[in-house]
Amino acid sequence: MKLSSGFWQTYKESPQDAEIISHKLMVRAGLIMKSSSGLYHYLPMGLRSIKKVEQIVREEHNKEGFFELTMTMVTPGELWKETKRWDKMGDLILKFKDKGGKDLCLSPTNEESVVDIFRRTVKSYKQLPIGVYQINTKYRDEIRPRYGLMRCREFIMKDAYSFVLGEKAQDDIYQRFYDVYNRIFSRMKLHFIPVEADAGNIGSTQSKNHEFQVLADSGEDEIAFCETGTYAANLEKAETKRGDIPFHQTDAKLEKVSTPGISSIRDLCHFLDAPPYHTLKAMIYTAVIGKKEKHVAAFLLGDDTLNEIKLKNHLDADHIFPSTHQTIQELGIPTGSIGPMGMPDGMPVIFDAAIDLKASYIVGATEKDHHYKNYIPERDSRDPSHRFECVDLRKAKAGDISKETGEKIVVKRGIEVGHIFQLGDHYSKAMNAMVQVRDGHWEAPLMGCYGIGIGRTVAACIEQNHDDEGIIWPGAIAPYHIYFGIISKNEELRSLGAKLYQKLWEAGLETVLDDRGLGPGFMFKESDLLGLPLRVILGEKTFKRDGTLEIKIRRTGQILNVAPDQLVEKIKELLEHL
Ligand code: ATP
Ligand code: MG
Repeated sequence: MKLSSGFWQTYKESPQDAEIISHKLMVRAGLIMKSSSGLYHYLPMGLRSIKKVEQIVREEHNKEGFFELTMTMVTPGELWKETKRWDKMGDLILKFKDKGGKDLCLSPTNEESVVDIFRRTVKSYKQLPIGVYQINTKYRDEIRPRYGLMRCREFIMKDAYSFVLGEKAQDDIYQRFYDVYNRIFSRMKLHFIPVEADAGNIGSTQSKNHEFQVLADSGEDEIAFCETGTYAANLEKAETKRGDIPFHQTDAKLEKVSTPGISSIRDLCHFLDAPPYHTLKAMIYTAVIGKKEKHVAAFLLGDDTLNEIKLKNHLDADHIFPSTHQTIQELGIPTGSIGPMGMPDGMPVIFDAAIDLKASYIVGATEKDHHYKNYIPERDSRDPSHRFECVDLRKAKAGDISKETGEKIVVKRGIEVGHIFQLGDHYSKAMNAMVQVRDGHWEAPLMGCYGIGIGRTVAACIEQNHDDEGIIWPGAIAPYHIYFGIISKNEELRSLGAKLYQKLWEAGLETVLDDRGLGPGFMFKESDLLGLPLRVILGEKTFKRDGTLEIKIRRTGQILNVAPDQLVEKIKELLEHL
């Protein structure tokens, strides 16, 4: 690419809506351009990186024997109705009608399409296992598109699907995808962790489910892990133990105390001089399950936080939300000091598993301005209307202990670049995609789905690889390898430059030639912003001095001088490590 005839423009200023560095740099370096909210054009420089990520993804899938196909981006509504996702996915799906009034949508994912292809193609167990994938555009009408390519509405996803018979085969193919993903993200030199993730409403509780998280402070997810790599989970899913807590053990009698005007745990602890883990906090939630609503009271140690996903999964609810003030009043619960005693008859009471049921707590008296001291769940909840369950509901936090290894848990932010997921027979059954097994019976195959956000991966890579001047591409996905600038008006030197440029390309070294005749200052600034792994300068001063060109390694800032006839070899050698 010659910049003189190129289609490349950089910007000094970051776009106003850019909050994170990858968004700022991708726009400033002329990789992407916003078309509208959550919609981005991939400009030539950005598209090259995207294509490189796609190619790595493609190669690793092909190596493993998975087949590439392309499904239509527009899918008929009738397929989505078979799995009931037409309604379930709500307004995330962009729906429309064709001239004939037929329902259509832009695919947010493609389980329905792939199952439809499968059921029209595969009839016998002999054709299994099958793994197919595509790399194409998805559309999700995200509520809050932001962060550039990180969370947009239109984006490129690699989505793969597997079909097998039997749990063992399901685990085997899952492991193959797990390995493929590790290879893909390692090739891009990303610092990533596969973490256990929440399976949501699909798949059984045993089903495997991992997200591939790229560590970055700007990440939208929080992940809990042990530094030794023995345990890692999305915070939504993480099941950990609290570090040792000195619970309050007493058999003192339940005692009602007046707590005028106190409604927060903080004030309560201050007022009664108790640590927060000697109190229980109450959360009243409404769960929507199908067309029904159910209200529950959840109790946690005073300094723990409710993990809504755990509660939602426990209740098998479509969604949950904190009950409104009005609902709480209608349930007859006085707000302000809600406790496990005095909950309305029949209302489920759930204690978080971190609560020692034999210990004593300060709890709301479910009466305005009053609390109980010495409430012992096991002793004081015997009344049948106070029957309770004990469930892990708390959000894991730093300093917790891994249940498996006893090691300390660290919490960091991550960007979910990939997600692999066992789906069981949920979709194959719903869409009646059956295969004939050995004994002649028909059985629904078990499925898996496996996604990678291509654009998000590029953005995540920039989050991990940049400095104050701009991007620092890892060689594997840089738009080009070399930024080659000629600083001279001398015809002889310019023609040497043109020859070297030719030679670099012939050697397979992807080179951008800055032949715009700009001053060195401007050229260096743009080259640093774009962040190709190597910058090569053919400058009159240096060349006249000792007949060399200057190579600068973008990541380290190191400068090397090489003679023209050694340029290709030197660059090849350097790129092996970049
Ligand atoms: P998120 O939790 O971030 O909304 P998701 O879990 O809904 O993502 P999946 O359905 O697992 O996403 O999609 C597979 C991959 O596609 C994700 O791991 C992510 O890399 C990418 N992806 C999902 N939504 C977006 C989006 N709005 N913009 C860019 N990439 C996305
Ligand atoms: Mg996901």
